[in-house]
Amino acid sequence: MHLKALTLRGFKSFASATTLRFEPGITCVVGPNGSGKSNVVDALSWVMGEQGAKSLRGGKMEDVIFAGAGGRPPLGRAEVSLTIDNSDGALPIDYAEVTITRTMFRNGGSEYQINGDTCRLLDVQELLSDSGIGREMHVIVGQGRLDSVLHADPMGRRAFIEEAAGVLKHRKRKEKALRKLDAMQANLARVQDLTTELR
Ligand code: ATP
Repeated sequence: MHLKALTLRGFKSFASATTLRFEPGITCVVGPNGSGKSNVVDALSWVMGEQGAKSLRGGKMEDVIFAGAGGRPPLGRAEVSLTIDNSDGALPIDYAEVTITRTMFRNGGSEYQINGDTCRLLDVQELLSDSGIGREMHVIVGQGRLDSVLHADPMGRRAFIEEAAGVLKHRKRKEKALRKLDAMQANLARVQDLTTELR
């Protein structure tokens, strides 16, 4: 599985439709300050379901819509499509190629599509949840975050790697299961006490 293409239309500084194609391996995006490199990364988070305006470096969600620049008027909608190569079947869907599209209108309306079919945010999250590229995974390392990872103590660095590798999710599930077991043990002890009392 790898990201094949990202198309931005009316998203932040990308007023006109712009498609970036990625080959397997490492992709570097280079450009002068303010040219839109981070906006590309924001588009990637956004299409995968990011809900926090702050994480997208804005004050409110509508800030992702092209606000007008260089004589071009503001646009009424932002749309980003992410195409993922799924020929190895890593995503739980019966398509060799999956395109996720998120659209947002200035009046606040929002829409998600998977391969052209309208769906819910939850469907997008579920599709990506075990792939290592979902909303909860820190595969996107922002400029500030990179510094904190490099300067983290060994435990902090381990937590970061575990999160990126998807281990954290299982650790949290294990902790939750252990808490339930504890509660169950307490209930069992209570039942045993009551049984003893009733005898
Ligand atoms: P640096 O190298 O300094 O981090 P960068 O290449 O990552 O820069 P970005 O932060 O991606 O640049 O882009 C910033 C530009 O995007 C600014 O010029 C800003 O005005 C523009 N921009 C952000 N949001 C919008 C919007 N909604 N409409 C129009 N332009 C926008």
